[in-house]
Amino acid sequence: MRVLLIEDEVRLAENVASALRDGPGFAVDCARDGEIGLGLARNLCYDLIILDLMLPRLDGLSVLKRLRSRQDHTPVLVVTAQSEVGSTITLLNCGADDYLSKPFDLGELLARAKALIRRGKGVAHPTLQAGELVLNTLEQTVLRAGSEITLSPMEYRILEYLMHRPRVIVSKQELLEHLYDYNWQHHSNVIEVHVSNLRKKITRTDEALASGTSIETLRNRGYRLLLSRTPGTYADDGRDGEA
Ligand code: CA
Repeated sequence: MRVLLIEDEVRLAENVASALRDGPGFAVDCARDGEIGLGLARNLCYDLIILDLMLPRLDGLSVLKRLRSRQDHTPVLVVTAQSEVGSTITLLNCGADDYLSKPFDLGELLARAKALIRRGKGVAHPTLQAGELVLNTLEQTVLRAGSEITLSPMEYRILEYLMHRPRVIVSKQELLEHLYDYNWQHHSNVIEVHVSNLRKKITRTDEALASGTSIETLRNRGYRLLLSRTPGTYADDGRDGEA
């Protein structure tokens, strides 16, 4: 998942960004003022925006209003030093999904951030299930048919992203945009390598491949998480090709 953090207090921004990267393993882009933040939000794909209200150049409320007026429904968590009831109502009316008053506990921020991302993807529960795979977003564990499998941080992020969209084709570009921040130097085959390793880990080898949950590669289109089904019901359309 990729988060945009719009916050001008440098130390606070660094602490929040570190917590988001080290805890749930999110990619994080930081903006120090409202103009830059709005520009990033318009041009890149984020799963969550964390927005300070008091910002240089363009205040947070204006950023929020402009996003919503463009039908951008990215979940927004506002952090505010203003604790008046009036401003809270204004925030929610302007399309904020949640808010936290400063100073806040980083653990609470992480919990709210994860909950907003889940809700933004239509998932209320912290556990995702796809076929025989169960992914716990709180513990960051993955069970396959009840047994835990060990994934690298990037394999976990890819699987979590795909499990939010079972049966949907997800392009390599979409994975790059949602799993890496803008400082990252893209290598075209890095996603393929991670997906290949992930597929080996989640695909059961002790029975027919077609009966288990796996990741299908669709040439020039992307990847799709296939769920466990009756053996032999999958179309064999380029699973081994390159995305
Ligand atoms: Ca501020």
